Amino acid sequence: MITRMSSLFLRTLREDPADAEVPSHKLLVRAGYVRRVAPGGYTWLPLGLKVLRNIEAVVREEMDAFGAQEIQFPALLPKEPYEATNRWEEYGPNLFRLKDRKGADYLLGPTHEEMFTLTVKGEYSSYKDYPVTLYQIQTKYRDEARPRAGILRGREFLMKDSYSFDLTDEGLSESYRNHRDAYIRIFDRLGLEYVIVSATSGAMGGSASEEFLAVAETGEDTFVRSTESGYAANVEAVKTPVPAAQPIDDKPAAQVHHTPNTPTIETLVDFLNANTDRKFTAADTLKNVLVKTQQPGQKDWTLLAVAVPGDREVDFKRLEAALEPAEVAMLEASDFAKNSFLVKGYIGPGAIQANGIRFLADPRVVTGTAWVTGADKADHHVVDLVAGRDFTPDGVIDVAEVREGDASPDGQGVLVAARGIEIGHIFQLGRKYADAFTLDALGPDSKPVRITMGSYGVGVSRLVAAIAEQSHDDRGLIWPRNVAPADVHVVVAGKDAALVQAGEDFAKQLSDKGLKVLLDDRKASPGVKFADAELVGIPTILVVGRGLKDGVVEVKDRKSGERADVPVAEVVDHLVQVVCG
Ligand code: ATP
Ligand code: MG
Repeated sequence: MITRMSSLFLRTLREDPADAEVPSHKLLVRAGYVRRVAPGGYTWLPLGLKVLRNIEAVVREEMDAFGAQEIQFPALLPKEPYEATNRWEEYGPNLFRLKDRKGADYLLGPTHEEMFTLTVKGEYSSYKDYPVTLYQIQTKYRDEARPRAGILRGREFLMKDSYSFDLTDEGLSESYRNHRDAYIRIFDRLGLEYVIVSATSGAMGGSASEEFLAVAETGEDTFVRSTESGYAANVEAVKTPVPAAQPIDDKPAAQVHHTPNTPTIETLVDFLNANTDRKFTAADTLKNVLVKTQQPGQKDWTLLAVAVPGDREVDFKRLEAALEPAEVAMLEASDFAKNSFLVKGYIGPGAIQANGIRFLADPRVVTGTAWVTGADKADHHVVDLVAGRDFTPDGVIDVAEVREGDASPDGQGVLVAARGIEIGHIFQLGRKYADAFTLDALGPDSKPVRITMGSYGVGVSRLVAAIAEQSHDDRGLIWPRNVAPADVHVVVAGKDAALVQAGEDFAKQLSDKGLKVLLDDRKASPGVKFADAELVGIPTILVVGRGLKDGVVEVKDRKSGERADVPVAEVVDHLVQVVCG
């Protein structure tokens, strides 16, 4: 296949788009792969579509290879199945809802658990039919709060989603394992650097879940891993080890201290160290953070208090993940005004619980631990407020920031942090959706067996950006061979008829050998062509230029920058070798 730049629907740009922050977004726009239509909505231009299709093909091959079967749902879906699982509400503002001409409610599918479950229920009834895994590669819609970074976070995007249906828990484990292995093969073939981390299950429900994160500084997910063991988790999913409870009897009685002008942890600790004969640190204090939550489909906001050791902030992403599907927001001044018992800077468990606010505490707040915290009175704190004696939280919430150097939850080593882009997610859903739709198989004894499910996603369009994020330099994109829109970029560096003819000949010979060729046969200057070749990022560049009259052409590796003069007679075989290995 020869693609001619002279007629290719492509305009490269010298300037970064104004709205682009991350390299992949800038380069994919500049190199003419995508164009923006609306926030989170992009058109795939010819080169971009080729990359997308290449990725899709790898995903499809690996899914088919383990026996998953491809089907395709509409994106436009009726409301009822999503009402049955409560997701019509739970999805909140992220769901695109619309009405047809008769006034019936529809949605644009954000993910298709309901539809797959109903479809399997419609076709299968006997235990002999199972297990089965179905998938689609299909456009998804989510009205993301922060569509960002071009196709990295779209409001319309392409996802491979698959769903496994098993009779037993062991069967589900095997389906999960099959997906995990397939994802490893997919991301390896795509040349990505990635980690597999424990994840929270979010709005999906269910238990075991892992994410595949492409390592990238610009990623929105933070993950931690242990310096000593294989432990790795999305920070949202880190479970803080719970310390052993302590005896209460030996603790001094709680005492209120006058602590003037100490509205912050720092001022409080300094004051106590200057005015008592004990040594306090921020970790001895308990910070009571007030937030408000809103359940899906409800108008009212409810106050919630979250207590964390004073040396740590509440991590808002961990908080959101812990409270999902509820929305969460910080309190505004007007909320404080309405609840005058909340003395800003001096809030304690006492006033919180006395006024019926749910009070959830960090896992480190175990029975017998003594804390310095607010005394619900301006300029006053209480020292030695003991959990299980002086206050009892309504529950545990694990949302304090996770820091580098924290002990790894598996007890081995300490944590280091890095950032990544979520490219895949695998869940063991269990029976949540099968219960909602009574998906049963008739067992060998004629008794119904409830089916157990898994759900698995790959961000196909996001992968284009994730790969670009990992593979570029300041001159442009550098595609891994398996996804590149062409194998060889032939640059005719000059207007000479002999050069033009030679370029045509090489392109034809390479194409005849089965290689995909991008031929720069434009009338532009060599400088423009070289710059575009770097920008567009085909892994191998063949420059047909001045050396031709001496019988050589230049083969350049886009990634390493290495150049070699190759005799004209050998170059086709040489390139076949480079491309096919
Ligand atoms: P995120 O946390 O990034 O919002 P998610 O956890 O909501 O993603 P899933 O529901 O697990 O996403 O979807 C499966 C996969 O689809 C994700 O792993 C990701 O690769 C991709 N994906 C999700 N949302 C988007 C989006 N807005 N744009 C592009 N790809 C997305
Ligand atoms: Mg996810």
